[in-house]
Amino acid sequence: MVVHATFSFSEMVKIAEACDDSYDGLFFYAVKTTGIFCRPSCKSKSPNKENITFFQTVADAKRAGFRPCKRCQPDRMHFDPKWDLINDTRAYIQRHYKENMTLKQIAQNIGISPYYLSRLFKQYTLKTPRCYVENLRVNKAVHLLQTTELSIIAICYEVGFQNVSSFYQAFKKQTQYTPQQYRKDLT
Ligand SMILES: [Zn+2]
Repeated sequence: MVVHATFSFSEMVKIAEACDDSYDGLFFYAVKTTGIFCRPSCKSKSPNKENITFFQTVADAKRAGFRPCKRCQPDRMHFDPKWDLINDTRAYIQRHYKENMTLKQIAQNIGISPYYLSRLFKQYTLKTPRCYVENLRVNKAVHLLQTTELSIIAICYEVGFQNVSSFYQAFKKQTQYTPQQYRKDLT
């Protein structure tokens, strides 16, 4: 098992199960029984949890003897150096999602202009950085609703929303449920 700086094993399993492409490039998903590794978003995988392992880079997965999946081509995404900017941006957002981030701040940290960052990010991920932050916050909120007893308001601020109404709006947009409905349906 690989220790990852940002995600726990169970978080990575959840992300991979959801085929969420916001995490592509941040880690790779490998299946011991097939010897193949994938992007987290790849739809061709559904093995048992005991048979999977995670890697932070393509090089690590290859070194461990895994081959890239032909369908999602995890090794192809690093041919374009602009992916480095995208991945740096996503990693920055992953580390700071709890804070009130502005696009300007993110861009400054990556070392490019906000306009260029916004355009590049949209082009490569089909999402705006703002939308990416929002998705990530909602994912974290879902995780907290499932695994903690924290109040919904506490979760709202814990995952970085600045007020309850924007939390509700984003949550509903992404999951079709309110946070209350979501929690109630689980019990
Ligand atoms: Zn794949």
